[in-house]
Amino acid sequence: MTTPRFRAVLDTMSAYKPGKTVVASDGRSFKLSSNESPFGPLPSVREAIAAAAAEIHRYPDPAAVALTGALAERFAVPYEHVALAPGSVTVVQQLLETVGEPGAEVIYAWRSFEAYPVLADLAGMTSVQVPLKDETHDLDAMADAITDATRIIFVCNPNNPTGTVSRAAELVKFLDRVPEKVLVILDEAYREYVRDEDVPDGLTLYRDRPNVAVVRTFSKAYGLAGLRAGYLIGHEPVAAAVRKVTVPFAVNHLAQVAAIASLRAEDELLERVESVVKERARVREALIAQGWTIPPTEGNFVWMRLGDRTPEFAEFCARYGVAVRPFGTEGARVSIGDREANDTFLAAAEAFGA
Ligand SMILES: *Cc1c(COP(=O)(O)O)cnc(C)c1O
Repeated sequence: MTTPRFRAVLDTMSAYKPGKTVVASDGRSFKLSSNESPFGPLPSVREAIAAAAAEIHRYPDPAAVALTGALAERFAVPYEHVALAPGSVTVVQQLLETVGEPGAEVIYAWRSFEAYPVLADLAGMTSVQVPLKDETHDLDAMADAITDATRIIFVCNPNNPTGTVSRAAELVKFLDRVPEKVLVILDEAYREYVRDEDVPDGLTLYRDRPNVAVVRTFSKAYGLAGLRAGYLIGHEPVAAAVRKVTVPFAVNHLAQVAAIASLRAEDELLERVESVVKERARVREALIAQGWTIPPTEGNFVWMRLGDRTPEFAEFCARYGVAVRPFGTEGARVSIGDREANDTFLAAAEAFGA
C-alpha cells in the first residue's frame, strides 16, 4: 500500500517513553516515574485556575506579557531575556529548531534527559553523546568534542536521571573553553532542589556570557506538570530566536495564570520542596543501608545503576504498586514521593535485594 511520504527521520528517530503508572493487586499505586511533585496544587493556585477557567473562550495572551514580566522581576533580568514555552521540553525543541540543520551537531552528556536525542533527531541535527564519568557530566570531554559543526551544548544540572551535579569551578572552566558562537544551555529543571552550595545558579553564569542561557520549568518543584509552562532566560538574540519559532498561543491561559500565582506563592511552594529534599536524604540513606550504591543526588529522584537487573527491578516494584523509570539495561530512576510512596518503594527495594 502506498502511504503519504514522511521524513525518513521518523523511521529512525528514538521515541520518547513517558513514565508509566502501575497498580498493585491490592489497588495501591505510586507514580515515581516522572519526577513530579507529590503535592497537589496549592489552594491559592487552584483558585486562580478556577477563576481563569471562566475566560478560556478567549485565546491566551500570545506574548504572555504578565508571566514574562513576573519572571523578569523575580530573577532581576530584562524582560527581553525571557522566552516562554509550553514546558521546558518545548523550549529545548525550539532551541534545536533555531540552530538545527543537516550536519549541525548538538553535544550532550549521556545518559541525560531522554528528550535530547529525540528532539535533536527531529531537528535534523547530529547528536554527539559524551559518556558520563562517575555518573557525572565529563565537561572536559564535552569541550574536547566541540567541532566546527557544533551549534549547541546541553548541560543538565542536576543531571536527569543520575541526580549528579556540575560545580562552579568546573563549569566556569568549561564555559571558558566554548567558542562564543556555540550556544550552551544550562538545563536547570531541578534547580529548586539543589542544596550543594558549590552548584552555581545558572543565572549568575549567563549574565556576562552571551552564548549561555538557562532553561527552567514550572513542572517539577512548582507542581504544574499538567499545565505545561517552561522558560528560557538568555540574552536577547537567544530569547528572540526561541520566540521566533514558537507556535502562536503556545502557552495556554490557565498555565500562564497558574504560573503567576505560583510565583506569588513561592515561599509556600519552597517549603514543600524542602520536605522533598529531606525525604530524598532519608530515601538515599535507607537505600545505602540496604547495600545499594546511590550517587549523591540534587534532584527529586535517585539513580540506581542496576545493569541487566533493571527490567526485573521495575517489574518487581510494580507488584508493590510503585512505578519507577527503567532505562534499558542501564538503571532505574526513582522519584521522591510522599512518605507512604517512599516507604513502599524502600520495602520493594529491600525485598528485591541489592
Ligand atoms: C522534566 C524535565 C524537563 C521538562 O519539563 P517540562 O515539563 O517540559 O517543563 C526538562 N529538562 C529536564 C532535565 C527534565 O528532567
